[in-house]
Amino acid sequence: MNIILFGPPGAGKGTQAKNLVKKLGNYQVSTGDMLRDEIKNETNIGKKIINYMNEGKFVDDDIVNKLIKKVVFDPQKNGRLIFDGYPRTLDQAKKLDLMLTDSDQKINFIFFLNVSKDIIIQRIEKRKIIERRSDDDLNTILKRYDTYMETTKPVLNYYSNKTNFNEIDGGLKIMEITDKINNILKV
Ligand code: AMP
Repeated sequence: MNIILFGPPGAGKGTQAKNLVKKLGNYQVSTGDMLRDEIKNETNIGKKIINYMNEGKFVDDDIVNKLIKKVVFDPQKNGRLIFDGYPRTLDQAKKLDLMLTDSDQKINFIFFLNVSKDIIIQRIEKRKIIERRSDDDLNTILKRYDTYMETTKPVLNYYSNKTNFNEIDGGLKIMEITDKINNILKV
C-alpha cells in the first residue's frame, strides 16, 4: 500500500508516517530527512541546497525528484511507500505519477492533514526545543508555512478531487489522527 501524507510543516506528517511504518512495515520516504542527510554528509547536493533549506525555501524539483526516483524504483520498497513531505509542487506530483506508472505502482491513499498557522507555530516551537533543528527559528517557520501555502495550492487541487483523497483535521490530538487514518485504511 502506497500512501501520501500531505500538509504544511508541523502538521504531524512525520509522526503519522512513523506510526504507519510500525503498523504496516512500510518505508517512510521523507524528502526533508533525505535532504538533511545530504547536508550532514557534505555531498555535492548538500552543498547546493544548504542555503535553501536554512532559509525555508523549497529545494529544486530536479534534485528532489532524482532522490525520490531511487526509492520508487527500489524493488524492496515497491508498494510499501509512505511519502512524507513529497510531493510539494505540481511538477513533483506529476513526476511522481510518471515514476509510479513506470514502476507499475499507484498511490492507494492520500491524507491531507489540514492545520491552522497558529497550531503549527506552537508545535514547531516545541519541536525546536526537542530536536534542535537549525531551520526551526520562528522566521524560518513562517517562511516555510507561507512558501508551503503558496506553492502547494496547485498540488492540493491536483489531488483533492481524486477518490483516494482524505482530508483530516491536523489540529486533533496525535492519537485521534492516527485512529482516523487507521479507520480509513481499515488496519
Ligand atoms: P520537512 O522536513 O519536510 O519539513 O522539510 C524541510 C525542508 O526541506 C523544507 O523547508 C524544504 O527546504 C526542503 N524540502 C523537503 N521536502 C521538499 C520537497 N518535496 N521539495 C522541495 N523542498 C523540500
